[in-house]
Amino acid sequence: MTIYNHLAYLDNASTTPVPQYVVDVIDHYYHCEKVNVHRGMYKLANVVTQQYEGVRQKVAKFINADDKNQIVFTSGTTDSLNMVAFGYALSHLQPDDEMIVSVLEHHSNLVPWQQVAAKSGGRLRIVKVDGKGHLDQKQLTKMINRHTKVVSLAMVSNVLGTYTDMRPIAQKAHEIGAVLVVDAAQAVAHMPIDVQKMNVDFVAFSGHKMFGPTGVGVLYGKSELLEEMNPVRFGGEMIDQVTSRSATFQPAPLKFEAGTPNIAGVLGLGAAIDYINGIGYPSIMGTDHLLVERLMSELNGLKFVTIYGSPSADDHKAVVSFNVEGIHAHDIATILDSVGVAVRAGHHCAHPLMDFLRTESVVRASVSFQNTIKEIDQLVVGIQKAREIFK
Ligand code: PMP
Repeated sequence: MTIYNHLAYLDNASTTPVPQYVVDVIDHYYHCEKVNVHRGMYKLANVVTQQYEGVRQKVAKFINADDKNQIVFTSGTTDSLNMVAFGYALSHLQPDDEMIVSVLEHHSNLVPWQQVAAKSGGRLRIVKVDGKGHLDQKQLTKMINRHTKVVSLAMVSNVLGTYTDMRPIAQKAHEIGAVLVVDAAQAVAHMPIDVQKMNVDFVAFSGHKMFGPTGVGVLYGKSELLEEMNPVRFGGEMIDQVTSRSATFQPAPLKFEAGTPNIAGVLGLGAAIDYINGIGYPSIMGTDHLLVERLMSELNGLKFVTIYGSPSADDHKAVVSFNVEGIHAHDIATILDSVGVAVRAGHHCAHPLMDFLRTESVVRASVSFQNTIKEIDQLVVGIQKAREIFK
C-alpha cells in the first residue's frame, strides 16, 4: 500500500491485510526453520512437523471440529470445493441425481458442480434469492428431494453480504441423505464457524481472507465422509504402500495432501487464527456492524445510488454492493482510487447473480474490523466527486 499516502482499503472481501505477527511467523520459518514436514529424521524436522500438525489442531478448535483429522490443508476455498466435487460428489452421483446451489454462488462454488453434473449425468439445480438477497427457503425446501445428493451454499455472499443459516438446511439435506457443503470464504473473517452446531458435512475457507497468507486454505469434512472421499491428487506424502503397479493411501487428512505442503502458509494460517482469537469475534462483529451501518446510512441517503440486496445494514455481513446512476462501476472504482479508496468493481466471479440482478457489474465495498468510519466517509466523498465529474 506504499504508493498511497493513506489507502482506505475497502476490498477486504478480495483479500484481507496481513498483520505483522503473521508475517513474523512466516519470516521465522523461512529464516530459521526451512525444512520439510512429516519425513525428517532430525530434531528441526520434528519440531516443524509438530508446529504444522499443531495448526491442524488449532484450526479444528477454531471451527469446533471434534477431531484434527477432519481438517485438510488445501490451497484455498476453490481447491477445497474442487476436492469435494471431484473426490466425493463425482463418485456418489448417478445419472438423474441432483445437486443444488444458489444463484448467488461465487464461480468457485458453481463451476466445479457444473463439471461434476456434466461428467456424471446428474443435474444441477439453482435456488433463487429474494429481493433482499436471502435464499428462497421455500423454493429450496421444495427442491430438496430423494434425488438430491449435494447441497452447496455460501454462508455469506461475496456480492450481497447476506448470511444464510445452515442449520435448518443441514437438517433437510440429511433427512434425505444428502450432504451440505458450506462455502465459508466470506464468513470466516467476520463470524465464528461452528461445524458441530451447524451440523454441516463439508466447510471450505481461505487463509488470505482471514488475515493470513495466500495459497493456503482449509477443507473440513465429517470423518466418515473424508474416509469415503477419494484423493484427487496423487504422489508423495499421501501414500501408504506403493508397488510398481499399485498404491494404497494414508488415512485422511494426509491422503488429500500429496506432495510437499505449503508449510509457511499453514504456519501463517495458525498465526492468523491467533490474531483473530486475540481480537475476538464479538469485537470484530461489533466493528464490522458499525462500519456497515455508516456505509448503508450514507448510501441510502444518496438518491442516485442503487444498493443491491437488502436496504438494512443488518443484512450485510461486511459487504455492500451498489451502482451509481449513469456511471459505470469501473469508472466509480477509478475515481475512488484517485481519492485513495480501494474497492472492487466488476462481476465479482458471480455471473449468474449479475444476470439475476440485471446488471453487468457492481461496485463492492467490503470492510474488515481494521477499517475506520473516516474511511467510509472518504468513500462517500469519492462517490460524490464521481457524480460531479459525470454530471
Ligand atoms: N467463495 C466465495 C464466496 C468467495 O468470495 C471467494 C473469493 N472471492 C471464493 C469462494 C474463492 O476463494 P479463493 O479464491 O481464495 O479460492
